[in-house]
Amino acid sequence: MSTEYEAVIGLEIHVQLSTKTKMFCGCELSFGDDANVHTCPVCLALPGVLPAPNRTAFEYALKIGAALDCELSSFNSFDRKNYFYPDNPKAYQITQAVNPFAVNGKLGEVRIHHAHLEEDAAKTIHTGGAGRIQGSDASLVDFNRGGTPLVEIVTEPDLHSGAQVREWGQLLRATIKQLGVSDVNMEEGSLRCDANVSIRPAGSSELGTKTEMKNMNSFRFIERGIDAEIARQKALVEAGEPVVQETLHFDPSTGELHSLRSKEEAHDYRYLPEPDLVPVVPTQAMLDEARNSLPELPAARAARYEEIGVSEQAALLLSFETDWAEYFEGVLAAKKGVDPRVAANWVTGELSAELRKQDEQPLAETKVEPAALATLIGLVAEKKISHGAGKTVLEEMVASGADPETVVADKGLEQISDSGELEKIVIQAIEDNPKPSEQVRSGNEKAIGALVGAVMKATQGRADGGEVNRLLRQHLGL
Ligand SMILES: [Zn+2]
Repeated sequence: MSTEYEAVIGLEIHVQLSTKTKMFCGCELSFGDDANVHTCPVCLALPGVLPAPNRTAFEYALKIGAALDCELSSFNSFDRKNYFYPDNPKAYQITQAVNPFAVNGKLGEVRIHHAHLEEDAAKTIHTGGAGRIQGSDASLVDFNRGGTPLVEIVTEPDLHSGAQVREWGQLLRATIKQLGVSDVNMEEGSLRCDANVSIRPAGSSELGTKTEMKNMNSFRFIERGIDAEIARQKALVEAGEPVVQETLHFDPSTGELHSLRSKEEAHDYRYLPEPDLVPVVPTQAMLDEARNSLPELPAARAARYEEIGVSEQAALLLSFETDWAEYFEGVLAAKKGVDPRVAANWVTGELSAELRKQDEQPLAETKVEPAALATLIGLVAEKKISHGAGKTVLEEMVASGADPETVVADKGLEQISDSGELEKIVIQAIEDNPKPSEQVRSGNEKAIGALVGAVMKATQGRADGGEVNRLLRQHLGL
């Protein structure tokens, strides 16, 4: 009998804070400017300089701690984490190794071990043969990023599959985005996720040897990378070979894992207290402000939408993107009596698809006002137009910003309300399509689809689907 294995995954997430200036100096934060224009003696680590902590970074960090339901520490201190690397000119990073600003939290089903503040390294760019000296293979360092305030969130190993990591990661990203303290843009590196992965026999409480996967820049890649690593570890264990503690890189284009280096142990970093910074003791007012200023967070918003009847899937989609949630609430506010479930489906389904189809329009730029969509939803709900005709109207609304009632009138899309007229078309469709008609009569009810299609074609989608079905069945003797 083969052993069942369970994967155990913990995450370390780095979040760049969107403060105006860096963590320990007054240099501006920017993305995409020329290299090395936002630097000073402090963030270049010239001799004799002293760091000064950024108050806004602390306030942002405390908000993250509060949103993750952590205990906020009233005593913060800083430490030096020593390592030698070209993107780290001091040869140490200032971090919080002993007294982090937040401990013992929870988001969804995942416990948060702690969250601490630190400074980001500079950015190394490997030219891969495209260096300034023709054909040279150079490594360049851009110090604009060096010293950016970072919050590192460390979870307990409470996750068990790639899909679960993706879903939870999306919840975390949406939660931090809602706080307005970071861009959380994974492609630009303002949110970076490392995963520690190990496997153990199902039911065991011991932890196996873990590997670390670094800096994956989308939650889809993280899901695939973790699943590939779980499969690799299972194959090793089943072949009787050990899992080696190491850092891995997942290449999403090939689906392969490569070893980067053996993983450092904590003692490799020779942590020591940072002598240039006094401990930071947030006032009770600062701690209270962090908790009291929290907006409605995505998990709470999703629960509220589900309570008013929105499907779970649509509730999550809306809650994870603030602008979509605001648009949806605009639709509800614009028209009394609109069914939230139906409205949510139009927003996350038809509208979202039509925006994608028409040049990937962002929601913020759509010409379709929430009130206009509410009117369209009303026309369909009141059976003035069919659902199919509603989609035709929406296409025109997205393209030109037209008023739905005007489009319906101009295109003659009103539903056929005269049942005598519709009945004639149904009888004609049965006559014109003897084969499916015969199949339906002899018991193959699925064949009715061809007849419904014929009626819809003849009416240009202006017939009520339920009524068409009823009339077809009546005339076919079902
Ligand atoms: Zn600086």
